[in-house]
Amino acid sequence: MRKKIVAGNWKMNTIVPEGVELAKAVVAKSAEVPAEVGLVVAAPFTHLAPVAAVVKGTRVALSAQNCADKEKGAYTGEVSVDMLKSVDCEYTILGHSERRQYYGETDAKLVEKTRLALAAGLKVILCVGENLDEREAGKHFQVVSDQTKAVLYNFSAEDMKNIVVAYEPVWAIGTGKTATAEQAEEIHACIRKVLAEKFGAQVADDTTILYGGSCKPSNAKELFAMPDIDGGLIGGAALKADDFIGIALSF
Ligand code: PEP
Repeated sequence: MRKKIVAGNWKMNTIVPEGVELAKAVVAKSAEVPAEVGLVVAAPFTHLAPVAAVVKGTRVALSAQNCADKEKGAYTGEVSVDMLKSVDCEYTILGHSERRQYYGETDAKLVEKTRLALAAGLKVILCVGENLDEREAGKHFQVVSDQTKAVLYNFSAEDMKNIVVAYEPVWAIGTGKTATAEQAEEIHACIRKVLAEKFGAQVADDTTILYGGSCKPSNAKELFAMPDIDGGLIGGAALKADDFIGIALSF
């Protein structure tokens, strides 16, 4: 049975003491959530060490939001996978649409980052998703299939045990416009098919695929009821512990 996960992407929000308080509130409320639901908080780099101290020994896992595409050395401003491991990160998000759009994250870079992250023992939450023009042109299945293949077809079935996919339609991120449960489900099913073609039905069936894009307590239940939606990657609503936990209670 694949794992259900609700992951909060804090993006570039909160200063360190606020992030520590948010993590404490998530930990405090996490007992309400059924044990089989994985809880993850993806904090900014500056917050990782102090948030790690808060979540240590709890059921809340720590994630970064990105990592460098190089192992170490003269890459000013970058943060390596070993640095993330050294502050007890369990996951890193990779390929978020904001990184693809504003920071020139290419599929080739994502392959390198994924390779380094897995080698360091991190789990990867790989984001894919079409923008509004692509959706309106009816290209969403093609775009998401291509993004998924471009990165994940470079890895093995064994690697897939440590990879989570997040489908995040760009037009739904931070806009208040959520994909309908049916729109999300048909893309999740498509991603699973793309995975099955390369890795076989069992691996596809075991891979956790999250939905992200204006997910909140009021719409999470409908989304999570879909057979191929295994949880959410949550942006705005992850900044309030009550909303984040409310979403995690929606299975
Ligand atoms: C995200 O950026 O991962 C996200 C899903 O954001 P929001 O929930 O704010 O749309």
